[in-house]
Amino acid sequence: MQTEKIERLLETEQQNVLIVSHRNPDGDAMGASFALYNYLKKMGHNVNMVVPNAYPQNLNWIKNVKNTLIFEWHKSKCKHVFKEHSILFAVDFNDLYRVEEFSTFINDSDSYKVLIDHHPNPGNFADLIISETYVSSASELTYLFLKKMDRKKLIDKDIAECIFAGIMMDTGCFSFNSSNRQTYEVVAELLEYGIDKDKIYGLVFDNYSVDRLRLMGHILFNNMVVLPEYNTAYISLSQSDMKKFNFRVGDSEGFVNMPLSIKGIKFSVLFTEKEDVVRVSLRSKGNFDVNKIAMKYFDGGGHKNASGGESKLKLDKTIEKFVSILPEIEDNLLND
Ligand code: 5GP
Ligand code: MN
Repeated sequence: MQTEKIERLLETEQQNVLIVSHRNPDGDAMGASFALYNYLKKMGHNVNMVVPNAYPQNLNWIKNVKNTLIFEWHKSKCKHVFKEHSILFAVDFNDLYRVEEFSTFINDSDSYKVLIDHHPNPGNFADLIISETYVSSASELTYLFLKKMDRKKLIDKDIAECIFAGIMMDTGCFSFNSSNRQTYEVVAELLEYGIDKDKIYGLVFDNYSVDRLRLMGHILFNNMVVLPEYNTAYISLSQSDMKKFNFRVGDSEGFVNMPLSIKGIKFSVLFTEKEDVVRVSLRSKGNFDVNKIAMKYFDGGGHKNASGGESKLKLDKTIEKFVSILPEIEDNLLND
């Protein structure tokens, strides 16, 4: 990590720091961003955090998360912040198109830009690119970055909680192959700051509504299609399902992984009907690369075992298209 310049900028004078993360910010995006946010605040900087749309309710306990500026809701305040910032941290995404509406404001600014990310193929919009695909999460990478510059020992329990939450969520509670020896070493260090890992698990995963659990039951029973001949299963989630179960942001978190618990299933997809598009979430086990599928068929991307994209077709047509590509990718699905 060539962090000398950013360290110098942060150490010599008070800066207006802007942290941004991707649409549909998840636990890793928010955990990493607020670890940075709380750290830089402690250093005495002016810090703002902007995301395109709302974050899930089960992250409400993260220190200062309520200061997040949500571009969809706070456009004019965000535009002011974009104009004023001197340093930008882009966290947990690889290229500016993932912040959509406000990418131009970032492109147009001459701030010093730092990318902290763990997705493949980082774009070249940043002055400093801290991008490592072997690292489990942006949160783990943020911890390594903060630790490197932590001469004043500013990392504290609140910051360690943010990092732990991000790692926990992006590794599927340490069940995906994305965690490795370093991940556990980082977690061991985080425990030294006095975090209560079981409490954090409870705050994140035992904090859902009754409606969410009933929605889960409904879609598993009625909307899941299993195609054992392709080692594949998919679930659809329509607008009417969401209305019926009072859907709130974050309620479908984890749904896409559930079919992977079926013996033999290696490829799982969740189709979520949005107002104007269908969101496609893809997960796999082993060598089957869903990033390639997301890029080729759904205008998206991500990692080998977890990717996302979208479709402009209607929900039923999107599913038809998906089922029609299975024979094309059959070899990869069966020979793994
Ligand atoms: P999810 O299905 O949870 O929305 O996304 C899974 C993974 O794919 C995440 O790591 C996310 O960063 C990535 N991802 C989701 N949507 C997109 C997209 O539209 N483009 C790219 N490049 N990556 C995405
Ligand atoms: Mn991530």
